[in-house]
Amino acid sequence: MKKKILVTGGLGYIGSHCVISLLENDYEPIIIDNLSNSKIEALNRIELISHHRPKTYIEDVRDEEKLEKIFSENDIFAVIHFAGLKAVGESVEKPLMYYDNNLVSTLSLLKVMKNHNVKNLIFSSSATVYGTPKHVPIVEDDPVGETTNPYGTTKAFIERILIDVQKADKDMNIALLRYFNPIGAHPSGLIGEDPKGIPNNLMPYISQVAIGKLKQLSVFGNDYDTRDGTCIRDYIHVVDLALGHVLTIKKLEQNPGLVIYNLGTGVGTSVLELVNAFKEANNVDIPYVIAPRRAGDVSQCFASSDKAFNEIGFKAKYNIYDACRDSWNWQKKNPNGLN
Ligand code: UDP
Repeated sequence: MKKKILVTGGLGYIGSHCVISLLENDYEPIIIDNLSNSKIEALNRIELISHHRPKTYIEDVRDEEKLEKIFSENDIFAVIHFAGLKAVGESVEKPLMYYDNNLVSTLSLLKVMKNHNVKNLIFSSSATVYGTPKHVPIVEDDPVGETTNPYGTTKAFIERILIDVQKADKDMNIALLRYFNPIGAHPSGLIGEDPKGIPNNLMPYISQVAIGKLKQLSVFGNDYDTRDGTCIRDYIHVVDLALGHVLTIKKLEQNPGLVIYNLGTGVGTSVLELVNAFKEANNVDIPYVIAPRRAGDVSQCFASSDKAFNEIGFKAKYNIYDACRDSWNWQKKNPNGLN
């Protein structure tokens, strides 16, 4: 019998790619998603890619009664908790909404997991928990908690809660996965990042400039202390990231207790390097202007990916050119996202 993995936020950008990866690796994903930042069409696309339509609950993870029902109906082996609000700027404007959504959903999940004796959990954390890194590449033991916005603080708080929960119940296996910058899309072009309104993140912004929906990219600052003056990030292909979750489940199957991994490539890329890679990979123009720095941006943020490689065999297979090609393929095939 295939192990059942409950995927919260399984119709979102990273969640949907993870669902595909779970299916490819003989797990049975079960999705819960409240469609707050995703569309039901993602489920049709998952089915087109995998020829399988996972059982899906359109519910809010904060709703304990609904969770009780889902856990009673399904013998869940592990939970991957993607569901959460993630827009940095919005979190500054509406901190309560972020704390309520991200923290309450996690607490509800933990209570119901306890009631049903479900011992395995993977949490979608972020490199944002490192705040302003003292050095790069960032290793997992580096200090966390000095976050720069409420979104990041929810991630740091939840990590802390999960560490305490695991301390109190040594039978629990909990993985905190700190993502760097996910980009790219499934090579089929059927699923990908589908931001609401004007994108905040660099890659969807670039691809919307490429397709003519946005006039030009603003490069936020070219006076950082980096090789070309623009900020450096660790862009990881979402298909690689998705596989990282499957490898982590295999690790949890060995009862490791608490594990923490960076999921990045270990390679830093500047804003202008990413723009140029997109141009070269796709033979399109990306008009841009240099704009003032964006508040809260750190100059350099990239992972040491050694620990994830040594402990779970995680290594990014795709580079930024592959990701630029796949992002563009997705954008061209779905100029208005999923409908
Ligand atoms: N960035 C930019 N123009 C944009 C969006 C982002 O120059 O329209 C830069 C941003 O300042 C940062 C990098 O691109 O240096 C990655 O930003 P993103 O929001 O994608 O991810 P973050 O690393 O902030 O989570």
